[in-house]
Amino acid sequence: MELLKERILQDGKCLPGEILKVDSFINHQMDPQLMFEMARELAARFGQTPVTKIITIEASGIAPAILLGYLMNLPVVFAKKKHPATMENMLVTSVHSYTKGDDYPVCISADYLTAVDSVLFIDDFLANGNAALGIVDLVRQAGACLAGMGFLIEKGFQEGGKILRAQGVRIESLAIIDDLSDCRIRMR
Ligand code: 5GP
Repeated sequence: MELLKERILQDGKCLPGEILKVDSFINHQMDPQLMFEMARELAARFGQTPVTKIITIEASGIAPAILLGYLMNLPVVFAKKKHPATMENMLVTSVHSYTKGDDYPVCISADYLTAVDSVLFIDDFLANGNAALGIVDLVRQAGACLAGMGFLIEKGFQEGGKILRAQGVRIESLAIIDDLSDCRIRMR
């Protein structure tokens, strides 16, 4: 998606550890027009796919997921990164955080992810695929179907895309970064 690629090149910053910082338009301050255009692009790509529900993980996936849910007229569920005291009937998995370097629980109520669901997972980044594999596990626990996964930015030099595609998961990424070494952004 050209609009996103141009914005990444214009405003994205490289941090040590091959981290792309996009917190001026995605991860902290958000650009609603760009976010809406990204959701429209995802809706076009997944428009013919049977989906009952969109799922994401708090927090950065929520903005694109809810816009996509609006466009596709689907409910949106965000998996939580803490075990809420009030949540019963939970499905839980453990995810390794690439940016923070530790593991955290990801949970979703079994009331909102069930065997009748065919879900589309949306997130900001696909890097090593740990968050996405956590969702694959939750979908499996629920007996639901995974219709596909959509990411705003895929780091093509990390393994997540390869692992998930090898498992037969349909992945759509709006921008793919091929290299972040030497603090330069090289886009596919
Ligand atoms: P994964 O689980 O695929 O390794 O990483 C996905 C999650 O890690 C994303 O949801 C995102 O929060 C974070 N992440 C991974 N790489 C980057 C990056 O280069 N920049 C930012 N801002 N977040 C990243």
